[in-house]
Amino acid sequence: MEWESGDRSNIEDMRGRSGGRMVPIGIGGFVILLLLSVFTGKNFFALLGSGDAAPGQSVGTTGTINASAAEERLVDFVDAVANDVQDSWAHILGGRYQRTRVVLFRDAIESACGFAQSATGPFYCPGDRRVYLDLGFFNELSQRFGAPGDFAQAYVIAHEFGHHVQNLTGIEARGLGGAPTGARSTSVALELQADCFAGVWGHAAASNGQLTAGHVVLEPGDADEAIRAASAIGDDRLQKMSTGRVAPDQFTHGTSAQRVEWFRRGMESGDPGACNTFARSTH
Ligand SMILES: [Zn+2]
Repeated sequence: MEWESGDRSNIEDMRGRSGGRMVPIGIGGFVILLLLSVFTGKNFFALLGSGDAAPGQSVGTTGTINASAAEERLVDFVDAVANDVQDSWAHILGGRYQRTRVVLFRDAIESACGFAQSATGPFYCPGDRRVYLDLGFFNELSQRFGAPGDFAQAYVIAHEFGHHVQNLTGIEARGLGGAPTGARSTSVALELQADCFAGVWGHAAASNGQLTAGHVVLEPGDADEAIRAASAIGDDRLQKMSTGRVAPDQFTHGTSAQRVEWFRRGMESGDPGACNTFARSTH
């Protein structure tokens, strides 16, 4: 995979601020901040780290970040992938697509979806429409799950943006009801669809002719990295790693084979219409 640094406009850098719970302000503090925000027109909540800046607006780095050059390069990488993924969806969905950002954090963070720790892995929060990522996950992906490579990392990012697309297009709303887990659960259908959507982006990225700032171009073998990653984080594999057994009624993301299959479908077709995992799960 080749990529070129962009302007980091797809990143909300909270690495210097996260690592513990956000300042507890209480209801009194909340009211004061709300009044200040209303009267001054400035978003005082942004000071707490829960600010909702408009996409495209640059959010500066806050706090002290002790980051290696390698980590800073990883930030540029995430920005380039996120930018490329979002350009692809804007192209596919037109005006229905709304850009968002990847919130980078360390150890733990407070999102609109609650308090989350890095151990949860990367996630998408529908409440604030942000993708959350601790860069440390990429080490885990490579070392613990045996899926190294930049396109494996890109697949994970693109998967989270797949959830954003579901949120924007209302697919997620369909996902209410039924058992919360299990091979035929809505959760599994949504997760496999996000894998397929990651593949749809992979298809678009594979046809990017020329490398420009904030974009990526695929190289031969890249798809294999994503397939290895998809295979590494299937429910059956993860369950075997942690408990030595496979419990299909506890599935939330689908098996390794299913994750690979749906990523492939997206990658080969380049068509979100090929990603109807709900049809599969209802039969
Ligand atoms: Zn997911």
